[in-house]
Formats: sequence, C-alpha cells, structure tokens
Amino acid sequence: MNDGYLNFANSPMGAKLITALGLPKPMPLQRYEPGQPVIQGSVLIGGGGEPELLNTLAQFFKSIQAQTLAHERLPQWVSIANQHGLTTGRWATQGQKGEKVKALVFDATGLSDSTQSDALYWFFHDTARSLLPCARVIVIGRPPEECTTPRKATVQRSLEGLTRSLGKELKKGATAQLVYVSEGAESQLDSTLRFLCSPRSAYVSAQVIRVRQAIGPVSAPADWNQALAGKKVLVTGASRGIGAAIAEVMAREGAQVIALDVPQAISGLEEVAKKIGGTALAMDIGAADAPQKLVDAAKAQGGCDVIVHNAGITRDKTIANMKEHLWQQVVNVNLSTQERINDALVESGAITAGGRIVCVSSISGIAGNMGQTNYAVSKAGVIGMVQSCAPVFAAKGITINAVAPGFIETQMTAAIPFAIREAGRRMNSMNQGGQPVDVAEAICWFASPASAGVTGNVIRVCGQSLIGA
Ligand code: NAD
Repeated sequence: MNDGYLNFANSPMGAKLITALGLPKPMPLQRYEPGQPVIQGSVLIGGGGEPELLNTLAQFFKSIQAQTLAHERLPQWVSIANQHGLTTGRWATQGQKGEKVKALVFDATGLSDSTQSDALYWFFHDTARSLLPCARVIVIGRPPEECTTPRKATVQRSLEGLTRSLGKELKKGATAQLVYVSEGAESQLDSTLRFLCSPRSAYVSAQVIRVRQAIGPVSAPADWNQALAGKKVLVTGASRGIGAAIAEVMAREGAQVIALDVPQAISGLEEVAKKIGGTALAMDIGAADAPQKLVDAAKAQGGCDVIVHNAGITRDKTIANMKEHLWQQVVNVNLSTQERINDALVESGAITAGGRIVCVSSISGIAGNMGQTNYAVSKAGVIGMVQSCAPVFAAKGITINAVAPGFIETQMTAAIPFAIREAGRRMNSMNQGGQPVDVAEAICWFASPASAGVTGNVIRVCGQSLIGA
C-alpha cells in the first residue's frame, strides 16, 4: 500500500512544512537491486580490548571488495587489512573530520570488563555524525552465556543496550545490529555480514543475532547473488502479500519454488507461480492429511531443501467475545500445523541434511495485542517451536529460524482502521511501514546454504518498532 505521508515528506514543499512543524521525516529506504555490490561506500572499523575477529573481518571485506578505514584507536587495522590485500586507509587524523561512511563495524569480542566500554564511547562518539543515508552499524561480540568469566559476560551483554539505543538515535534509515559469534564459529559469519551490510536488511534494526558453529554441510554459494541456485523451496501462503514476495525473492536467488496456498486462492497462486517459473500447489495446510501430502510432493521432486511457513490467519476478538472455533482455527493454521509438517518432513527425510526451516512469527507474539489472544498465542508458540526444535533438528543438520514482522504494507494491514494503521506505521525508528520484500530478504538469509551457523534465531523485521521493544 502507498504511504502518502512518506511521499509528501520527501517532496520539496512537504519537506519544508514537515521541518517547520517538527514532524518526523521518514527517509525512503534503499533496497537491494540485483547486481548491486554488497555495500556502496566505505566501512569504518573500530574495536576494543584485544579484538579477536579482525582477521575474519578483513577476509570478509576483501571478499566483498569493500573499502575500509581504520578508526584512530584501532591503528592495527591498517596492517591487518594490508596483509589481506584489502584497500584501506585511516579515517581521520587528530583534529580532522573523517569522510562520511556507509557502515560502522566494531569488533567488541575483546572487551572483557565493563571498565573497557569507553572504547565504544570513543568510536561511536567520533563517528555518529559521519554516516551516509541508510548506513549500517554492526557490533560483534561473544555470546554472554558462553563467556568464561562473569565480568566478560556482563560487558558482552551490555552491548545490547548500545545497539538498541543507536538504532533509535542515528535516524536517516540507519540500522544497528549486534551479532554474537561463538568461539570457533568465525568462519560462519559471511552470510550474516552480507545480509546486515547490504540494503537487503533495510527494515531490520536493533536485532541480536547469534552465529554458532555450522550445523550440517557448509557450502558457500558459487555466486552470492544466486545463493539458492538449484534449491527446492516450498513457500506456504504464497498467492499474495508477504508469501508472494518470498516466492519472488527466492526465485530471484535461483530457487525452484513450489508456491502453496488454499484452493480458493488458485488464481493469485497461479499468477505468482507463472511469474517466477515455479509450481502452484493448491492445498489447505490445516487439513489432517496435509503433512503426508507435503512429504509426497517433496519426495516426488527428490526432496525439499527449504520450507517457509508463511501462511497465517487472524480471527480477532477480545477473549471474552471469542468463540472457541476462532481460537482453534488460528492456533491450528499458524502453529500446530507447522509442528506436524516439520515433524513429518524431518522424520521422513523429505527435508534432508542442510535443510532450512523458516517460520513467520509476529511482533504480536512478542508484545501481545488487544483482540489477538489467539493470534499472539500462535505466534509466540512459533518462537517456542524455533527455540525448542533448533537443537533437535541440528542433530539432523537442519536449521530452524523465524522472522517476526512488525507493520508490513500488505492487504492485511491496509484493512486496519486509519488511526491505528498510522500509529503502526510511524511508531518505529524508521517512521514507516516495511515492505513484503523486507521480510522476504531476511528469510532468504536464513534459507541460504551459507547460513549453516544460523539456527534458533528469531529476528524482528519491524524497523525497531516501539511495540514490544
Ligand atoms: P495475507 O493474509 O495477505 O496472506 C496469508 C496467506 O496465507 C493467504 O494467501 C492465505 O490464503 C494463506 N493461507 C491462510 N490459511 C491457509 C491454509 N490453511 N493453507 C494454505 N494457505 C493458507 O497475510 P500477509 O500479511 O501476507 O502475512 C503473511 C504472514 O506474515 C502471516 O503468517 C502473518 O501472520 C505474518 N505477519 C504479517 C504482518 C503484516 O504486517 N502484514 C505482520 C506480522 C506477521
């Protein structure tokens, strides 16, 4: 749906009026276009204590042909970057202002005590005003639960307060993320850093991502712009909205897509399938025989590499007014069905080692919502399913993650009354709703064969919505 306020605020007359009235001015977000480099602009590197990931970062930035700059408190970056053949320089010498950059990346893995946190202060204090529009801030730490001393765990946990605050402060479409990397999982960072550095993560901010040692086979794609080449992907609820965008983005990345939706949605479904050269499968996933039918459909094409559980319904009523069948329907379609399908696919081997299961939760499942007890139960349940199944499926080499969208511009949100819709759109750090493609890009990152170290994550695609923050 068109966001009239965003267009007005960015017109010459509207911009003046909005500034004069002191109203928020949403920045049109840069989104990924095929063929673009991962990052368009320089990356400024900082670090504190004895940073442990500088070689990994140098290798990564070399692989995406980025230009990097060293903050003056991390002079060793220049020689490390040079060893890796990476174009680099110093960002600013004392007293001089440095150039504007597209990303700030801070290696915080070396911080082992809260008294060292002033390294964060100096880096972000110096650089916060030197960001290009839609810049990226990435802080990399160690998972507090894996730290060997309480002091280190404490300072590593404190990083979350920094990135969540930066996400609110930086404006102009900037995002800020915290990535916790387990020791020994450094080589698994590529797919996550590519996603976070690029415009693919336009509407993802203030998230905490955990990258662990690889689960199942690891394979970096031959072509990162075709990361899903040859992969067989099933997307439920694909006839419209977010599901159609997921099917399209997956196909853009080289996947063979089976687009599934209810028989009543067949015309939209066939249109999507035709557009992407995929297959339409009309089926109600809530039916008792759906798991077996999906196993058969997957086996008929030699197995399924990725399933995206996007289909979902709402049947909103306050609990006092809600009939039992509305509760049952929502919990069945949005949650129990997914559990049954996952179990059937995993147990039958229809989804094999290296398989990816990606679920769609909602911020309603994190924050709760008036009139949505049934929906919030189902979506919070999806989070529970991801977290509890991740270690079980890991034993079979399969990852499971979820996205939790906030306000996304779809037919579902277009139907919300105007005042509530405007509140949903504006109450986030981007001052605008997300697009279906934003959810789809995050799902592609989870689905990538290079994301073997990414499991058990629930990532909000909500522009840092204040709801449930
Ligand atoms: P939508 O209603 O436009 O699309 C959902 C699709 O799922 C529809 O095509 C529908 O026919 C299909 N579906 C429903 N029940 C099914 C069943 N039993 N079998 C097969 N297909 C079925 O919704 P959307 O806005 O595109 O949302 C997609 C997902 O994202 C949902 O899970 C939703 O809960 C979630 N979500 C959306 C938003 C948002 O702002 N739009 C926010 C948070 C979460």
